[in-house]
Amino acid sequence: MVIQTETNFITALPDSHAAGITPMIEQFLAVKRDHADCLLFYRMGDFYEMFFQDAIDAAQSLDITLTKRGKINDMDIPMCGVPVHAADVYLSRLIKKGYRVAICEQAEKPQEAKARGHKGPLKREVIRIVTPGTLVEDEFLPPRQNNFLIALGEAMGEMALSWVDLSTGDFLAETIEESRLAEALTRLDGAELIVNEQKAEHYGFSTNNNQGLVGCVSLRPAQFFNSRDGEKQLCRIYGTSTLDGMASLTKAEIAAAGALAHYLEQTQKGQSLRLKPIIKLTSGAVMEIDPASRASLEITKTLTGKREGSLLAVIDKTITAPGGRLLANRIAAPLTDLKEINARLDLVTAALNAPMLEQNIGDALKTMPDLERALSRLQLQHGGPRDLAAIAQGLQAAYTIAQIIKEQNQNLIAVDMLTEMAEHLEKPYPLVAQIGHALADDLPLMARDGDFIRTGFSAELDELKSLRDESRQLIAQLQVKYSTNTDISSLKIKHNNVLGYHIEVRSNHADKLLTHDDFIHRQTTAQATRFTTTELAELEQKMSSAGEKALALELTLFEELREHILTADNDILTVAASAARLDVMVATARLANTSSYCRPSLSEGRAFNIEKGRHPVVEKMLDSDHVEAFISNDCSLNDDDRIWLITGPNMAGKSTFLRQNALIALMAQAGLYVPAAKAEIGVVNRLFCRVGASDDLSTGRSTFMVEMVETAAILNRSDQNSLVILDEIGRGTATYDGLSLAWAVVEHLHEVNQCRTLFATHYHELNTLNQTLNALSSHSMQVKEWQDNIVFLHSVASGGADRSYGIHVARLAGIPQAALTRAESILELLSEQKQNLNLDDMPLFSAAPPRQEPQNKELMDYINTLFPDTMSPREALDALYTLLKIKDKSQ
Ligand code: ATP
Repeated sequence: MVIQTETNFITALPDSHAAGITPMIEQFLAVKRDHADCLLFYRMGDFYEMFFQDAIDAAQSLDITLTKRGKINDMDIPMCGVPVHAADVYLSRLIKKGYRVAICEQAEKPQEAKARGHKGPLKREVIRIVTPGTLVEDEFLPPRQNNFLIALGEAMGEMALSWVDLSTGDFLAETIEESRLAEALTRLDGAELIVNEQKAEHYGFSTNNNQGLVGCVSLRPAQFFNSRDGEKQLCRIYGTSTLDGMASLTKAEIAAAGALAHYLEQTQKGQSLRLKPIIKLTSGAVMEIDPASRASLEITKTLTGKREGSLLAVIDKTITAPGGRLLANRIAAPLTDLKEINARLDLVTAALNAPMLEQNIGDALKTMPDLERALSRLQLQHGGPRDLAAIAQGLQAAYTIAQIIKEQNQNLIAVDMLTEMAEHLEKPYPLVAQIGHALADDLPLMARDGDFIRTGFSAELDELKSLRDESRQLIAQLQVKYSTNTDISSLKIKHNNVLGYHIEVRSNHADKLLTHDDFIHRQTTAQATRFTTTELAELEQKMSSAGEKALALELTLFEELREHILTADNDILTVAASAARLDVMVATARLANTSSYCRPSLSEGRAFNIEKGRHPVVEKMLDSDHVEAFISNDCSLNDDDRIWLITGPNMAGKSTFLRQNALIALMAQAGLYVPAAKAEIGVVNRLFCRVGASDDLSTGRSTFMVEMVETAAILNRSDQNSLVILDEIGRGTATYDGLSLAWAVVEHLHEVNQCRTLFATHYHELNTLNQTLNALSSHSMQVKEWQDNIVFLHSVASGGADRSYGIHVARLAGIPQAALTRAESILELLSEQKQNLNLDDMPLFSAAPPRQEPQNKELMDYINTLFPDTMSPREALDALYTLLKIKDKSQ
């Protein structure tokens, strides 16, 4: 960024009486005051300009030149600008940095201003406020992820969340307990959360504090969250007089959804919004996964926030972006309803039973664009000709898929579902021909660029375009005609600024034309006489406005096509939804085939029987390394054997085993096939996964505190239908404290929570619990000792381990031998005294080798000055004598 440091900038917005305010700046200030929380992109010709503090902030964020324009109170007004044609790139960078940007456009043409006798700046108005949660452009959005705008509402003592993706039209609501707010927000992974400014402090949110739960927080006035106003606002959007027909929303849900409606109205500046009907998520409809468990299971992103390395990255074989979004949503929110889960699984089974169906649908999906986002852009008037083409191409692909399904064997397991989808897929097919006939092959991005209507579609447009494009030719043709008709070979049609197009003949031919009915005299000069004809005047008239008219007509045709599409918007959205489901079906079937996944069997009970289970991500990593194959393991929990206590060395695979079982449950309930030979799972209502811990400095919690908070959540919320994965409890405190806590937690889970539990620990002492807790059993990871080393077998066997092999693992990690030897001797001592352990008696520190102080400093100092590499033999001999001299001195 170039800042003119010598400049004395005014950054605060001046009042309208300040010296030097021009009408243009006055207009800017008026708009800016109404949009104080936004950067204002103020349209001036081919640029969006920014002024005052906006200019300084934007120049810094975008690394563009900061200049100045005019003065106020003798101080320079800072200014920077971005070209309109490249504005999206800059806009996207500003949005990523958390800015909201108000786009202020010229609302009239100079001719219009002139016609109304206005002298000041052209009328301008804000046409859209761009915020992280209201984006629709492809350039701004990751294709395989929803972009949720979320609102938090309250009414009648209840709390609710509602969320909308403007780029796809998805709109949902859910009543939640306040204690589950963080869980729900991490599930949604939203771009922006709207909070009532009067309640923000209570929830712990502010514009600068998103608690790491959403992209950013926007505060809005309390009236946004009023359920009565909200209802009216929602009715306006849906064009209904009541919300009765919609999902029987609670007052709190309407308050939240209404706040979204207000916010969309404010940011989209009254654009007509066409959103899908609100879907209400009932309590318990999805598997509850708290933020810590979600993070540690690395479902859609890893602990470092990347997609690569997550479960999603490994299992996502979808072809289309909407398919990718659907899969991501499914694994982020696994279901608890058996019927729905089985319906999803039936589709996958059908695809596996009919390989050609899977293959052909997969091929057709390759040509399926992102219908939802193209449609949404068209609805919001941000779409262009390519979006029209995308709709046509998508509907064509949908039609093809419908035919593929119809040709299938009627004995398929999910035949009813598939047939219904086929009907949906082909319903809006007639639009394909309508759009296809109209659109040219090469399409510009914006409708305003013109030239996107196919030649032959509109005779009027073709004529206008040929007038525009072939003007020279038409003039030339006319010239030949007049020259032939008048027999004046030197007759020319010329153009100048005064007469425009005119016919010119040398003066000696003038009489011939003066007596001709068709020619109208315009001017006589010394050498030439000039004429026009009605035909030429009309041609000129047509030509001069042909370009403008052609564009205007194209824009009208664009609007007509857009309207055609919008009248079928619900059908198109149903097509999009069906295509996304089929994409996930095909992807899951392919994964099941290539990676040997099986169909899980789900039930209402509390069984958890996994045969030959594998960890989908670790397996993949080992696969790609070609080092070794993944070792599968069984896991069998039931009412009589609810808790597996798993001991074994570090690095033996305990965490992997624990997580793989959690992921198998999650994938099964998402309606996916799972990495196992067989899986029988009683539906899990809540999944807890406490694996390792790190401190959370942002909330002032130490590692141990984080561990205890997470453990408390498990003991307080898990019940008989939950699955709890615990990897080490109590490691962050003193040995006896930790052991006592781990002991008590296991007992509590066994006696009170009675949930299915996998508990990995290094406290072998806990194995004695299997004598008192009848539904607990001990298991261990197998290792082989070999020549002072250990070999990990990665297999789980029944019975507890008697030691941890920590020192062996430390050797593998490269701890120096001296430290290892010392550790071994301490371990020996500790093991001998185990029954009577008194650390004060332990020679823990006395046995450590004393640190050796250099005995003769002068000697050492001298040695440090010697560089044998560069010494001559003579110098080496001298050094030897000096050393002996120092030695003698010190004795
Ligand atoms: P620690 O107690 O130190 O946390 P751990 O017992 O939990 O160790 P893991 O982290 O689960 O061990 O596994 C260590 C590594 O062993 C994994 O990164 C993986 O490479 C390999 N591994 C684990 N399980 C298996 C398996 N079943 N088959 C093959 N390799 C495995």
